[in-house]
Amino acid sequence: MKNSRILLVKRPVGMIAPTDFEKREETLPELEEGKARVRVTYLSLDPAMRGWMSADENSYVPPIPLGSTMRGLAVGIVEETKTSELNKGDWVAGFLGWTTFADVSAADVNVVPQMVPMDAYMGILGLAGATAYYGLMEVGKPQEGQTICITGAAGSVGSLVGQLAKAHGLRVIGIAGSDEKCKWLTEELGFDAALNYKTDDLEAGIREFAPDGLDLHFENVGGAPLQAALNNMKAHATIIMCGLISTYNATEAPAGPELSAIIKKRLTVQGFVMTDHLHRFGEFFEKLGAYMMKGQLKYRLDVVEGLENAPVAINRLFEGTNTGKLTVKVSDL
Ligand code: NAP
Repeated sequence: MKNSRILLVKRPVGMIAPTDFEKREETLPELEEGKARVRVTYLSLDPAMRGWMSADENSYVPPIPLGSTMRGLAVGIVEETKTSELNKGDWVAGFLGWTTFADVSAADVNVVPQMVPMDAYMGILGLAGATAYYGLMEVGKPQEGQTICITGAAGSVGSLVGQLAKAHGLRVIGIAGSDEKCKWLTEELGFDAALNYKTDDLEAGIREFAPDGLDLHFENVGGAPLQAALNNMKAHATIIMCGLISTYNATEAPAGPELSAIIKKRLTVQGFVMTDHLHRFGEFFEKLGAYMMKGQLKYRLDVVEGLENAPVAINRLFEGTNTGKLTVKVSDL
């Protein structure tokens, strides 16, 4: 039996090039005991692949080794089996790779029901659906009446997030890259509004749609659309960091912080303002006072004499010339 597979042979620089891959034709060996041979029917192409192709060791999956079959989520049909856990004719989904046949163990795949069209396992019942559902419901915890903004809104994840949000009674604004995509969002998917990030003023457009601010923002893109959403968030709102596709082919480090670690390491990044917690001061005094009395917390002051010196002294904070808590001694005790 003949197999074709595509190997990753070079790590892309910038956009992925056809020369980063090599095609291999081969005759398949006899199937090993304990495995099943799957004929791949649909292969999912995902933005995450750009990251998997890079040499970045500091991610949620190791880089694809050069010279090996390109990694990819796929669905297929069991053609031959030497394991009691998989039957001929089963539909299976998993990381089958860029290949026409894959030999798998039962643990490598999920057997999926056959009562929907098989291509659904590429979309709603695949990575995109699971991502949209988990991101919106588990991370975003949406509530009826809230307002959400979604970037990459006409894409496979974004379009599902928007529809799920509508089904949960939210007001939804999507950001996408063409008027045709924006029209699809509002006229066919039921989004309340859509903005074209190539032609519209995003910050003003979001503000017009949500004058009181956004309760939720689902980020797929990064860069300017993320900034426009950030500038329109309500206090205590939630940003669901799903993807940053605008940065994936970058060949130079961004001017600002590189935010992909938030996703790769599933970080919780939460702003806070101490004055929201002033009512807990008694608790802080008690805890910190106990540490101080035991000598476990030390502090030093950098005292400036005289109120008249405050206007000049304050800049020492920004020059770094304060050594300790910069304090003005206004009068004697
Ligand atoms: P997709 O949205 O179906 O396709 C990618 C879309 O991104 C393109 O159609 C394009 O739409 C937009 N795009 C590409 N380059 C852009 C740029 N420079 N600026 C703005 N938009 C750009 O792909 P998807 O599979 O649904 O993935 C969407 C996002 O979700 C990606 O960031 C992906 O990495 C992320 N994701 C995350 C997880 C997770 O587990 N965290 C899982 C799956 C996907 P426009 O025409 O609108 O520009």
